[in-house]
Amino acid sequence: MHINQFIEKMPKVELHVHMEGSIQPDTLITLAERNQVALTAKTPAELRQWYTFTDFPHFIDIYRTFAKCLRTAEDIEWIARQFLAGQAKQNILYSEVTYTPYSQYMANGISFEDQLAAINRARDWARTTHGVEMGLVPDISRDIDPKAGNIVAHWAVDGMQDGVVALGLGGYEVGNPPEKFAEAFKIAQQAGLPAVPHAGETAGPQSILGALDTLHAVRIGHGVRCLEDANLVKRLRDQQIPLEVCPTSNICLNVFPSLAEHALPKLLDEGLYITINSDDPPMFNTTLTREYHQISQVFGLGQQQIMALVLNAVKASLLSEKKKQTMLTTFQSAFDALK
Ligand SMILES: [Zn+2]
Repeated sequence: MHINQFIEKMPKVELHVHMEGSIQPDTLITLAERNQVALTAKTPAELRQWYTFTDFPHFIDIYRTFAKCLRTAEDIEWIARQFLAGQAKQNILYSEVTYTPYSQYMANGISFEDQLAAINRARDWARTTHGVEMGLVPDISRDIDPKAGNIVAHWAVDGMQDGVVALGLGGYEVGNPPEKFAEAFKIAQQAGLPAVPHAGETAGPQSILGALDTLHAVRIGHGVRCLEDANLVKRLRDQQIPLEVCPTSNICLNVFPSLAEHALPKLLDEGLYITINSDDPPMFNTTLTREYHQISQVFGLGQQQIMALVLNAVKASLLSEKKKQTMLTTFQSAFDALK
């Protein structure tokens, strides 16, 4: 089977993808009409243009528009269903999904409990209808006050029996070091909830060190800028801390000038634990499937290397050891059948 066909059909796991960042332009138009929110772009074509990533402030502007358009728990359930149907279409059998509950709480007063219940209705629906599963990663946006961060940590801990698998940290990295939210992550850690912060994307190695030492990160969102510090690379390799690499996202955010100049081959050569992810797919005009296509084409990765990356994602997930073993066996049989 040709590698492109193999990539499309192979089962996948995704560890770094944002639910709000996965809202498709058509869905946003419907939500805006339903909730009478005026959008600057009116047609799907104009909206796609507006969606196209230009710079970080514009990116934040898009996220604010999402918060304005999501008025009710039903809206949240709907975007969660759309998201999971999109994952199913790509044969992504399990996703760990980042979601920013504090934005919806501040914009529309929807309690975390109601937000989580809405997402869990979508999750049940997706399991029954599409056979796909998800874990939720509520994240703290770095621009909020540390005290608000503590609130998010308490919410996440409360949701541990209800699909929450980790506490995340996202938003503008520069000027907002991980240490700002030390207390929030301590709350999570004391409850046994793992930390999966973004770090080493728009800020350098110091941010990754903060994520490891202060937040006790079990995985690093992005982490690609670890290469600027040889000692840190050694530590990440020795401890086999998984990195959630999102190639196209890195190009859009100017972390690297082009995919050909992306650090992926170097990260692999260094023996680091790499997983491949899509981040905010419609904004970066991508999907997880496309990310695999791109890296396969640009770096000449074959079936063996692609399969190893997929299996890395299974192993780096926060599923129980038993579920991971079952999934590894299922994936291996699916790969064998495709070959
Ligand atoms: Zn992200």
